[in-house]
Amino acid sequence: MNANTMHLGHPLLFSYKNRSNAYSFILNKFRAKLSTLKANKINHAGRLVYINSVLSSIPIYYLTNIIFPENFLDRIEAIMRNFWWAGHKDENDGTNPIAFRSWDDICRPKKLGGLGIRKIHAVNKSLVLHSAWMVVSGKDPFLSSVLKAKYFPNSTFWKYSKHGSKSVFWSSIQNVRQFLFQNSIFQIHQGNINIWTEPWCQGWDNIHSHIQLPVSVNPIPNQVKDLWYPSTRDWNLPLVQELFDLNFQEFIFQTPIVHLHETDKLIWKPARIGICSSKEAYNFISRLNNHQLPDQGSRSISAPALDLINGIWKNKKVQPKLKVFMWRLIRNAVATAERASRYSTNINNLCNYCGQKENDMHLFFHCSLPRAVWFSANPSLRADLLPNIEHGLQDILPYIFPPHTDDSHLISVITTLWYIWRARNNNHFNNRTWTVQQVHFNIQAEISVITNSISEKSSMNDDHNHLSNQDDTGEGSPQGEQQDTTTPSNTNNISCYVDAVIPPEHLIVGTTPAGIGIYITGDDQATRLNIKIQAQIQDGVNPLMAEGLAMELATKITTIMGLQSYSIFTDSQILVEALNPGSGKAKPPPWRLKPTLSTIQNQVQGHQVSFSKIKRTLNVEAHKLARKARQSFQQQVFTRCSNCFHNSPCELLHLLCTQSWGNFRLLYVSCE
Ligand SMILES: [Zn+2]
Ligand SMILES: [Zn+2]
Repeated sequence: MNANTMHLGHPLLFSYKNRSNAYSFILNKFRAKLSTLKANKINHAGRLVYINSVLSSIPIYYLTNIIFPENFLDRIEAIMRNFWWAGHKDENDGTNPIAFRSWDDICRPKKLGGLGIRKIHAVNKSLVLHSAWMVVSGKDPFLSSVLKAKYFPNSTFWKYSKHGSKSVFWSSIQNVRQFLFQNSIFQIHQGNINIWTEPWCQGWDNIHSHIQLPVSVNPIPNQVKDLWYPSTRDWNLPLVQELFDLNFQEFIFQTPIVHLHETDKLIWKPARIGICSSKEAYNFISRLNNHQLPDQGSRSISAPALDLINGIWKNKKVQPKLKVFMWRLIRNAVATAERASRYSTNINNLCNYCGQKENDMHLFFHCSLPRAVWFSANPSLRADLLPNIEHGLQDILPYIFPPHTDDSHLISVITTLWYIWRARNNNHFNNRTWTVQQVHFNIQAEISVITNSISEKSSMNDDHNHLSNQDDTGEGSPQGEQQDTTTPSNTNNISCYVDAVIPPEHLIVGTTPAGIGIYITGDDQATRLNIKIQAQIQDGVNPLMAEGLAMELATKITTIMGLQSYSIFTDSQILVEALNPGSGKAKPPPWRLKPTLSTIQNQVQGHQVSFSKIKRTLNVEAHKLARKARQSFQQQVFTRCSNCFHNSPCELLHLLCTQSWGNFRLLYVSCE
């Protein structure tokens, strides 16, 4: 391999000496696309779309593979910033754009009060993180093998020591290596990864310091599967105890195993399905940088104002240009004379109509033209009664749009604000004065255009909207009530109801357990069953995991009881979809759930078991048991048998109480 080796059109061993060429090439690309000349021809909404499209089209190979110096990225950012703020002729003289809001604030996600423009520094870092992920997870085998040959021929990415000469690409991967270290782990399937050099359990990076000396084991295990019994994948206790100290034994025993015959999989922990896509990488990097806005002053945003702007972003009937305009109003980023005058001594801070100080409240409400427009609007508004406070728009706007404002009122008020702004600019820069009637005429014309285009669109898109709505609700809510299977589809006599209750958020301190409730009822070979079980589990702090673990315990119990055919009911839609594969459109299950899912599937294998979702209101018994279990401080298991078909002492209770339940703690078992 030499300095000319190329990968995807990018020189792999591209040296520091040649950087400046590549840099100016990228800078020129941004400059050509984002010239302020172009900006002057489109409104802010158009600029927003344009910036985002340029950002996603330009991250050419260089941005994907190299972490650029801060000052270089700052220059790209300046090009974007000037493009965004570049004046329309009617806003300022266009030579030197004034930024009324910091770029960091603009680059926040929309739901946090920003415009959702991606920050170039974070884009660069996240693209490299994604590339590095492709290398370490083996998704780019060619690149992986080239890098391995050059940089860690006798080790792995996770263990090599830093030395020798580096290409710019390799040092860039170094730059994001810590993120991969802190957030990746192999999920164990077959146990084929190397226990000494790859991340597979807590504390792995210090594994050598946990060895019990002198080592008496021979041969020394190499892969994870050397530590378990091949038939069951149960840890080989004597071997593990012989080899490692107590701490590390504990780490090993806590390591979840996916009972599937696949190779071990590298997992990106922050992502739901465990893959560091470029989108997940960006989310991760930008979360690291999201500072909090101050509570007061022009940068702050009040909760009602944030609700208002988020509602406007989501409203399909509001035009993009009006959305961005409303954002500028709410974020105190409109160029009033008063605001502009703070940046230049050439600009005076007075209203062109009346000579008073022109702040937001004056421009949009208190000056004579807006006052008359609001007064003659329908419904009429006495703008003169609104208080004149600095940054007052944020407080006034939520008041003008109370919660649940209907769309037609919302659009009419937004359009009114927009044409008051247009009238003001025409007066301010061209000395043309609109009459009140002219303003209203423009508002009406604009609204009728909007409503017509919407009724056309909505009659065409009805089906489509319906589909996308469904998509939105499923995500992350195990209690989602859609697609209920209220009528059990099979005729099993035995039903097993399962539920889990997690502690309220303020109670989660370290190891507050989740409660599990299981209720088994029905006829088993002429014997009436009515079994209630309460249990606790330590790691079920998120609702879906807790539901999954509850299901795992339930199938453990039914298996031990020797039940052959039964139905299991849960109120978690995601769980049911994951356990009934082949239903087609189901998303991949969250990676954290996979060990649990594989255990459940293993346990029910060979039995006739169906998994169905029921409404929470039909899962009352299991829910009550789970809630009691969650609140219990009991130390020992409490048992009770009042079933007249059972012997005394009850064999079933004896059976259940003499099992080892691993991380589950049984609190209460009764047969009735
Ligand atoms: Zn005025
Ligand atoms: Zn009994």
